[in-house]
Amino acid sequence: MPKFLLIFMLVATAISASDSPSRTQLPTSVEPGGLILGQTVPGSTVYFGARRLLLTADGRFVAGVGPDPKGQAIFEFKYPDGSAEKRVLTLLPREYAVERVNGLPQQTVNPDPATEARIAAEQARVAKARERNDDRSDVFGGFYWPARGRISGVYGSQRVLNGVPKNPHYGVDVAAPTGTPIAAPQAGVISFAETGLVLTGGTVLIDHGHGVSSAFIHMSRLDVAVGDRVAQGEIIGAVGATGRASGPHLHWGMNWFDVRLDPQKIAVTGP
Ligand SMILES: [Zn+2]
Repeated sequence: MPKFLLIFMLVATAISASDSPSRTQLPTSVEPGGLILGQTVPGSTVYFGARRLLLTADGRFVAGVGPDPKGQAIFEFKYPDGSAEKRVLTLLPREYAVERVNGLPQQTVNPDPATEARIAAEQARVAKARERNDDRSDVFGGFYWPARGRISGVYGSQRVLNGVPKNPHYGVDVAAPTGTPIAAPQAGVISFAETGLVLTGGTVLIDHGHGVSSAFIHMSRLDVAVGDRVAQGEIIGAVGATGRASGPHLHWGMNWFDVRLDPQKIAVTGP
């Protein structure tokens, strides 16, 4: 090998080792509730915390952080050439409001033991649907608002329901009349579709691939069933006030596996 070529290769290796952004595209910071999209060398091994991430054929991957992330958002890469890299994202601060909601059915705020057991069983089935890790790449296409209207509840707010402090609100509420159609914010596969859940009433989950799912609750009508493939913008049902709701609205939640994301930070304007 000509000497100059060897020197060039050594310099190139040194540059790629120190100039990491050239091999992996990632944001440098993330807000609580944020979805992180990245792209790296195809065939790499990528970890976010303890979870190994699926990669698309062209090296794209996704991860998310919850409302009150502890520690750091750390990605670890092992590239096909055997080299490794660690990237630490800055977690931006975020403050949440307190929301008081009154006029809810008391049985849904302070349920009796039998109802509490039913709620736990229902939530376990929803949690199971969120464990999917499909290699479909719908998630990378971006998200539209599933319905438009006044934002009547925001992500992360501390909730006081009928005067009782409860869990934070993990989603965004869009006030709209009962019967308003709900459009799939992005394509996916229906992973849950049931009516009559104690807290969430008519409930639909869409799996968008790579662990990212959308949840739509309090629905008055479901137009889809588990296993259906939906396109972006396809109507999946209608707004309602079923479950623990004080009036008709769409509650839209998004998850990365069991991590609660903020749809308002992810959604773009609809069609
Ligand atoms: Zn809500």
